[in-house]
Amino acid sequence: MAQINDNFTKIPATYLFSEIAKRVAQHKAQNPQAVIIRMGIGDVSLPLPDAAVDAMIAAAEEQRHAETFRGYGPEQGYDFLRNAIVENDFRAKGLNIHADEIFVSDGAKSDTGNIGDIFSIHNKVAVTDPVYPVYVDTNAMGGRAGEPSAQNVWSNLIYLPCNAENNFVPALPAEKADLIYLCFPNNPTGTTLTKAQLKVWVDYARENNSVILFDAAYEAFITEENVPHSIYEIEGAYDVAIEFRSFSKTAGFTGTRCGYTVVPKSLTALSESGEKVQLNKLWNRRQSTKFNGTSYVVQRAAEAIYSPEGKKQVRTLIDYYMENVRLIRESLQKAGFSTFGGVNAPYVWVKTPAGMSSWDYFDFLLKEKNIVCTPGAGFGTNGEGYVRFSAFGSRENTIAAMKRIAE
Ligand SMILES: *Cc1c(COP(=O)(O)O)cnc(C)c1O
Repeated sequence: MAQINDNFTKIPATYLFSEIAKRVAQHKAQNPQAVIIRMGIGDVSLPLPDAAVDAMIAAAEEQRHAETFRGYGPEQGYDFLRNAIVENDFRAKGLNIHADEIFVSDGAKSDTGNIGDIFSIHNKVAVTDPVYPVYVDTNAMGGRAGEPSAQNVWSNLIYLPCNAENNFVPALPAEKADLIYLCFPNNPTGTTLTKAQLKVWVDYARENNSVILFDAAYEAFITEENVPHSIYEIEGAYDVAIEFRSFSKTAGFTGTRCGYTVVPKSLTALSESGEKVQLNKLWNRRQSTKFNGTSYVVQRAAEAIYSPEGKKQVRTLIDYYMENVRLIRESLQKAGFSTFGGVNAPYVWVKTPAGMSSWDYFDFLLKEKNIVCTPGAGFGTNGEGYVRFSAFGSRENTIAAMKRIAE
């Protein structure tokens, strides 16, 4: 009889977004006239930049003709895209990353989820709380998380609380962590670390031979000078960090699918026999075995966002969402809420009024204001008592929602 990977059965059903959908559907059924504004979404709403679409059309035309047709490409991504990434995202900022340290993929969810393949199940993993659920669930699947409690707290994970009390800056763990997932600017809280605050973690990783798995999916939204766009801006990070990037939120690629992972050649970890092994080699082996590359057409679209027009169009997208987030942040503050984030990220993290639970306040906003937010408790124990507002909706809806809350 075939047997399953039992780790899968331990993972609680992803309850957050299905529960939200259920409650919204119920409210809509009872109030068919209600005009509901969705501020819970983690998906973008503006279309792809023209430069990316034009590049896809041109690439599709190449695929029509035998002379220009491309079949399997390099598993790591085409040189044209790897070089554009290196030049624009790293060299232009004085960072010493090379094309063979870039692995193009279909997005950061796959890469942050798959990276566990190259690490022993005996590593001790640290995650922030609240957290992007992919890090937790994929470690559970890999057998690294232990057993979940009734509150979905895993016995073998180290949780790093991020809340108003510590200003959303995770403290170093008491117990030694081997793998540390950090996402800054953060989803769900929209908060960031300064260079000095991130340096504390890089120093910790160097001292403890840990590896930081740095998710920079929201770097394009950074507005403040002292916030790092890449972990490699921090001295010593090349030896201790893998960085994940995504074109999803940056350039509207959520449905088009493209991202990349940076694995510096100087980054090593130990084999069972105590030998230092380059993680770049292992990730290369993992990708060329299990992945056949991102579509040629999509890689041309990603390349195009680095063209002068592409950069301008991407800036317009980001500016649009950042104006939404400013409206949300300032309106909620004016209405007397304690808000966090929303300065370097498209999310505002809001303390619920009068100590209400996340779900109670979610229900209040839904029933009384016809607004959908995301309950913070869905992202972890320390998310309780907060809700997340997303700036990815339309300007019109953002303004209307803030007016309803002010009333
Ligand atoms: C949206 C998001 C991503 C991007 O995922 P893709 O697979 O590239 O679309 C990665 N990490 C976090 C924390 C996100 O919120």
